[in-house]
Amino acid sequence: MIQIIPKPLKVVQGEGIFKFTFSTKVGGDFPKTKKQLVAAFSKSGVEATIVAGDGDINFVTDTNLDKEGYILNIAENKITIKASDEAGAFYCLQTLRQLSKVDIITNAEEIEIPCCVIEDKPRFKRRAFMLDVARHYSTIDTIKECLNMMALNKLNVFHWHLTDDQGWRIEIKKYPLLTEKGACRTATQLAGNKMENETYGEGLYYTQEQIKEIVAYAKELHIEVMPEIDMPGHLVAAIHCYPELSCEGKQIDVSTHWGILDDIGCVGGDKLMPFVKDIIDEIAELFPYPYFHIGGDEVPKKKWKVCPKCQAKIKELGLKGEEDLQGWFNNQILLYLKEKGIKMIGWSEILRATELSDETIIQWWIHSAKASGVDKWLAKGNKVILTPEPYLYMDHCYDMKDLKKYYSVDLDTMGLSPAFENQVLGIEAPLWTEYVRCKEKLQFNIYPRMQALGEINWTAKQNKDFIDFEGRLPLQMQIMDALDIKYANRDAYLVRGFKNWGRASKAWLNWSKNQNHEFEKYCK
Ligand SMILES: [Zn+2]
Repeated sequence: MIQIIPKPLKVVQGEGIFKFTFSTKVGGDFPKTKKQLVAAFSKSGVEATIVAGDGDINFVTDTNLDKEGYILNIAENKITIKASDEAGAFYCLQTLRQLSKVDIITNAEEIEIPCCVIEDKPRFKRRAFMLDVARHYSTIDTIKECLNMMALNKLNVFHWHLTDDQGWRIEIKKYPLLTEKGACRTATQLAGNKMENETYGEGLYYTQEQIKEIVAYAKELHIEVMPEIDMPGHLVAAIHCYPELSCEGKQIDVSTHWGILDDIGCVGGDKLMPFVKDIIDEIAELFPYPYFHIGGDEVPKKKWKVCPKCQAKIKELGLKGEEDLQGWFNNQILLYLKEKGIKMIGWSEILRATELSDETIIQWWIHSAKASGVDKWLAKGNKVILTPEPYLYMDHCYDMKDLKKYYSVDLDTMGLSPAFENQVLGIEAPLWTEYVRCKEKLQFNIYPRMQALGEINWTAKQNKDFIDFEGRLPLQMQIMDALDIKYANRDAYLVRGFKNWGRASKAWLNWSKNQNHEFEKYCK
């Protein structure tokens, strides 16, 4: 059985096999992917040769094909790979890895690949995974492992949530305190709402050199890295270092608790805007891509309501109130980014402002299309990214969001007309790490949700089928076994039938008592 995730557009199974041996020549176009193909197969023990001319495995440029798409033709004596760009050739290689099972083979003399013809292309452009490294830091190696798994599943955007109330994790040369002081908190709220009274985060940040290393590593895998600097809320770690950024200017601690905090940046004052512009200047040099995420979520306006500077600004600009003050701030940042050729993305609460620039891209995570304002936003022809919290949040337990529910996400699930398909840039899932303190839990929460994320982004709607998807999961699990990745097994990821009635009905209760209960039950 052919087990490919995400499911390709068309697969026609043939007869016979192609034998990949030590004498196989890899030729044609796309030099980078040719090297990657030989490297991928060499892990199994079989070393092929790269040639400049025609090969037994031959890459051909075909500009009639869609971006990122490919046609793979495997005959007994030759494999032909057609693509219009290097990304398409690379995605064909990911398909070929799964067809040949090369990732789970060792010490081979030759590798058999079943004959078939596959035509394939992605459904959505921005197929994204988000990792929060502010609440808990992930090592460079853990991030690289995530990127490798993203590539295998044809995801192409790594959204890096680098800053939050509980820690600042990106080096900014002009503001060294952000990582000297802002990376560190004095205590941490644990699962079950106990406290750990030990400092966390000292030295746990990414230097600009490390950021460049990750960006370069991801680029080889055709993954764009998009930074998020959350503002004007979720800014407590920065305010701890530079109190003048807030309305009251008081010294506050990096937060030791999770949740929404009242201390936010002062948009009426004259300190925040230059600070943000300086940060954007440094960031634009590190991330060579045209997208920046401003956050913008969970911004309580309590402090702005009583801040003379914020109130004066509202008056001066003739704004209707605090939501429009945030909208004005967002539009200023959007214009600043635009001068650098960068587009702005923000979480869906920023739609509460009456005059948000139509050039903003909205990442929709809470409330219905109507209540969030996404329906009006789409009706104007604007763009969105789908990240529905009730379905896709990877930090939540499987008993709250099992894999079947996760897989069901689509425009219709969200109450959107199929007419908006071209305005949906993609589907993105985040891993928030409040209760993710170790690599094993990170893996348990991410996999096999990441496989489903790849499929709901890449696979044509008419080819989506959860039962069929599950039938293709075992190969990915064997690959993860070979990589020592602790994924959730079927008992954990699927909540179904009478047997699990208690589990589903007690999901929120179990979660509020102990956010690790499922991980402890299935993974330890
Ligand atoms: Zn203020």
